[in-house]
Amino acid sequence: MRRIAFSLIAALALAGCASVEDSVLRGQPQAYAQPRPAPTPNIYMSALRAPLHSELFACNTWGSNLGLIGQRGEATNYTPYMETPAGSLLRNPTEGACMSSGFGWRGVASGGGRQHSGVDLANPNGGYVYAAGEGWIVSADWRSGFGNFIEIDHGRGVRTRYAHLAEIDPNLHPGDRIAAGTPMGRMGMTGNATGVHLHYEVMVDGLLVDPLNYGLPPQYQTTPVTQTFDEPIAMESLPDPVQ
Ligand SMILES: [Zn+2]
Repeated sequence: MRRIAFSLIAALALAGCASVEDSVLRGQPQAYAQPRPAPTPNIYMSALRAPLHSELFACNTWGSNLGLIGQRGEATNYTPYMETPAGSLLRNPTEGACMSSGFGWRGVASGGGRQHSGVDLANPNGGYVYAAGEGWIVSADWRSGFGNFIEIDHGRGVRTRYAHLAEIDPNLHPGDRIAAGTPMGRMGMTGNATGVHLHYEVMVDGLLVDPLNYGLPPQYQTTPVTQTFDEPIAMESLPDPVQ
């Protein structure tokens, strides 16, 4: 009797596995927009994981939308991770790049301007670009303007996008699960780019957010000049000092 029960459980377990595998296979995406090199053992197999950057420096002081920059050129609000509904994501998923442009409106001398939908992290020597957090590869292909482009779905409405890459790890495919900090490609200037940099975007619930300032811990958020706490305490209400 016990043996029958065991085989029944085993059969059910096997059936469960098969159906899960089928659904995973059906979810695999299909073709790429551009031809890709054959997947072979390559540099990505032995590349170092993403380093933890404790500081982010501005590449130059004339960069736009850099935010608060300290005397050493450091972004004073910078923390290595942003807190998102999908967990912690790297703010600077590069190998030691500096910030050449921040998020938001970029004006031009002639008037007007346009929105910059991410941050630009530059390193003239290139270097690896890492997965900002765990997720699934949505795209790893060529996009006009963006050049070699990767998009990751981190779940819970959070996505990250990586543009202008010189190359993408040929073993990387849409549908792949990717671990946080995995090297995915190398920085370049493909698409509309005037220098070697990563254009890095973070989307939360379909909105592009500032990768440098989104999800900062409260102690790093800029304190507004106006009083937003409890009402100020009037001096005369304080008790007289003890004589
Ligand atoms: Zn950019």
